[in-house]
Amino acid sequence: MKLILLGAPGAGKGTVAKLLTKLDGSVQISTGDILRGAVAAGTDLGKKAQDFMNAGDLVPDDLIMDIMKARLQEDDCKSGYLLDGFPRTIPQAEQLKTLLADIGDELDCTVNIEVPRDVILDRLTTRRTCTGCGEIYNTKSNPPKTEGKCDKCGGDVVQRDDETEAAISNRLDVYTEKTAPLVGFYEGEGNLLTVDATSSDAVINAIKGKLGI
Ligand code: ADP
Ligand code: ZN
Repeated sequence: MKLILLGAPGAGKGTVAKLLTKLDGSVQISTGDILRGAVAAGTDLGKKAQDFMNAGDLVPDDLIMDIMKARLQEDDCKSGYLLDGFPRTIPQAEQLKTLLADIGDELDCTVNIEVPRDVILDRLTTRRTCTGCGEIYNTKSNPPKTEGKCDKCGGDVVQRDDETEAAISNRLDVYTEKTAPLVGFYEGEGNLLTVDATSSDAVINAIKGKLGI
């Protein structure tokens, strides 16, 4: 399957994407994970992206499009992909449309995951992320077995730099202003699936229903 997962920070895009990869071998492509990897490795891209990310602002469209042009043409994308956190602006969506036409790819649908703002705020402040493999934990509902250590890879499980209260509030405002308009964009394209959901299972079931799998 080839899907865009759309939703506010904390809506559960990453969790849903990880569950979907187990269904049919599609790969999760998270621009946030790619950027965090670049920051950790201290590459040029990482140096350019770091300040935007820590403030909860978006990284410029041209940097993101360079990453995605290369990524979508890698071999593993042939078995399908789940775009998690991309596109995030109307210019990114328009350039993605051109890119897909150029490489002869077609998306199954865009999934708009809607979660109430109070649930999102609670999730983001309690969310913890493995610096080794990106696995997501929650201090209340899903803590690692050993505090601060990943169950899967043993890496450090930490609160992200952009998960301070100020950065979270900015990320939600940026979402409303820059990314929420994509709902109308993909509605116009005629392939939007909106799921009102606070559980990732409900989202998975809605996607299975829509794709007939
Ligand atoms: P979340 O969805 O929880 O906000 P992500 O991991 O998707 O987190 O993104 C973290 C940060 O990485 C964003 O706040 C932004 O700075 C940057 N980023 C990720 N994807 C994009 C994108 N498509 N366009 C611009 N910036 C991005
Ligand atoms: Zn890990």
